[in-house]
Amino acid sequence: MRKVKILLVACVVLLFAISSVVSTQRQHQVSGLISLSIKTVGWSSSELEMETLKFMQALRRIALNDLSQKDVSLRFDLLWSRIDVLAAGEESRPFRNQPGATELLQRFKQHLMTIEPEVLALKPGDQAARRLEQALKPFQQQVRSLNVRSAAGEKSWRDLQQISSLQHEANLFLLGLLLSGSSLIFLLIRESTTNLKQALHDSLTGLANRHAFHLKLQQAIAAGHKHHTGIAALMLDMDGFKHINDQLGHAIGDQLLQAIAALLKTTAGSGNIVARLGGDEFGILLEQNATPASCRKLASQLSTALKQGITIQGHRLYPQLSIGSSFFPEDATQPDILMRHADLAMHYAKHDPKTGYRRFEQPMEDKRQRFHTLAEDLVAALANHELQQHYQPIVCLKTRRIALVESLLRWHHVQYGDISPTEIVTVAERAGLAEQLNAWVLTTACTQSMAWRKAGLPAIRISVNISPAMYTRYDLAGMLTRVLSQTGLPADQLVLEITEDTTMQDIDSSPQILNQLRRLGVELALDDFGTGYSSLSHLKSMPFQKLKIDKSFIQACSPTSPQANSFLRTIIRLGQSLGMAVVAEGIETKAQYEYLVDEGCQFGQGFWFHRPMTGDELAAILRERQQQDNVSYLSNKTAVERQV
Ligand code: C2E
Ligand code: MG
Ligand code: MG
Repeated sequence: MRKVKILLVACVVLLFAISSVVSTQRQHQVSGLISLSIKTVGWSSSELEMETLKFMQALRRIALNDLSQKDVSLRFDLLWSRIDVLAAGEESRPFRNQPGATELLQRFKQHLMTIEPEVLALKPGDQAARRLEQALKPFQQQVRSLNVRSAAGEKSWRDLQQISSLQHEANLFLLGLLLSGSSLIFLLIRESTTNLKQALHDSLTGLANRHAFHLKLQQAIAAGHKHHTGIAALMLDMDGFKHINDQLGHAIGDQLLQAIAALLKTTAGSGNIVARLGGDEFGILLEQNATPASCRKLASQLSTALKQGITIQGHRLYPQLSIGSSFFPEDATQPDILMRHADLAMHYAKHDPKTGYRRFEQPMEDKRQRFHTLAEDLVAALANHELQQHYQPIVCLKTRRIALVESLLRWHHVQYGDISPTEIVTVAERAGLAEQLNAWVLTTACTQSMAWRKAGLPAIRISVNISPAMYTRYDLAGMLTRVLSQTGLPADQLVLEITEDTTMQDIDSSPQILNQLRRLGVELALDDFGTGYSSLSHLKSMPFQKLKIDKSFIQACSPTSPQANSFLRTIIRLGQSLGMAVVAEGIETKAQYEYLVDEGCQFGQGFWFHRPMTGDELAAILRERQQQDNVSYLSNKTAVERQV
């Protein structure tokens, strides 16, 4: 594009120069012609006047007896022939073109014809010559005035001089234009060269930038196609750079980036391209020795070098790089995809701090694709109520009666089939849909609970899982208030399940958030207890009414593993000593159930009792129980059940 622009401007200037030269030449020709015509006319009229004057002088001299008749005749003939020459012929046309010139010539010639016999008859001393001379005077004066008026006059020469000076000025002007045109081209070339440099380079590190890297990748792929050679694209991201920038300032951050750039350049070798793709992200294009082994070696060389640390302004820094690679043609044949795959591998490398390096694998891309599809489809699924909720009873272990139900999210996706609720939650949180999802879950659960009540079924509390982002980032209390008032469900009929890990995300504000929720009248259950890292003091500070032991502990317990059994026993005691109702999750066998009853665990949930089911299925179970008991669950509740 840049070349085309320069070529275009050069063409315009060249055209301008050629047309200037041609028009100057034409001007010269025109003024040459004008000056020639002026000269011809001037010369002709001067010659005529001269011949007239010479003939008049000859007449004067013969009258004074100073000239022979022969000489007078000669002058007469010369004057005659001069008139003849002027009256005909192409050269003297400019003379004849003057107003009155042809008539004058005719009259002059007529006069000469009239006086010819007298002229031929003149003798030296003849005074008739004086008369003839006088008779010629009017002609001589007319010729003179023609001469003066003619283009050969002084004015014409002045005009001619003016034309030539104008021409001179025009030439200078043209020269100026040519010079400015050339300087324009020069500036354009210089500017576009600078622009090109800036457009392709990162000003901080001097490395190629993202655009240049992409171009190089394109070229390398084209060459790879042609010569059947391989290429490796590496994406490198500095871990914790933001922290360094924030803690030590941007000046040190900049110097660190420069140091990393220099290290990458020396490690990658001169034949390979190193680029800064933006922020703390770098790219390397390996065209030589582009094998998985050499990439791994490069990654380990970089890691070793960085382990030694970099000193910047007295600070010893130990930055780490996460590196992902992808290969042409195995992993991708398009520059964009090759970069995307390397980038994807780099994100996997971030979770592999041991090596900090990952090579792209197809499942990574499948997972990414799946995430994008699900994220896109989840928006529509939420709007169109394509999600579902299943309900799993939580039973009183002593009586085996249903004490409450937990609502569990379900989504059958057209392409991927059943999506697990944990995946739905992860996708929603990463796609910024946490608020919508939680609102949908809460509203659906509360509406369902109200529907069972309206159908005359025993009032059964409903337990709803709250996603981590909803707990930490959004106004959960506000949402809850809205949903409860919209659906009409009494707050004490709702239990919120919050996982141990979620409460750990913001340890300091957790008690405050939970107390706010408690003030609304809802119950709180600490979900998946035992899988997180909460401390006893943290546990004590949080107002939970229930503690749900993670199913892994229940499933680990068996007569052959006393250690697991005593661990489970300790957790049950801990919950009870903190005044919480303990719920065991994932009870699948009679043995597990009996062990838990023996250990005094109050509540349980598991496939051995009920699998998660639809709202209608649960309604049918509740109705059946109601008929069996012939009394409502509420009136029959045991002391323990009242606790739930
Ligand atoms: P959770 O809250 O601990 O829910 C209990 C999980 O254990 C459910 O899995 C349930 O189906 C399963 N389960 C119950 N009894 C047994 C058993 O005897 N054996 C086994 N192997 N599993 C049993 P599910 O439905 O797949 O849900 C998984 C997790 O997804 C839930 O764990 C919860 O953390 C999350 N989740 C489910 N629904 C929602 C929701 O609506 N919102 C949010 N934020 N998270 C949800
Ligand atoms: Mg739960
Ligand atoms: Mg759980």
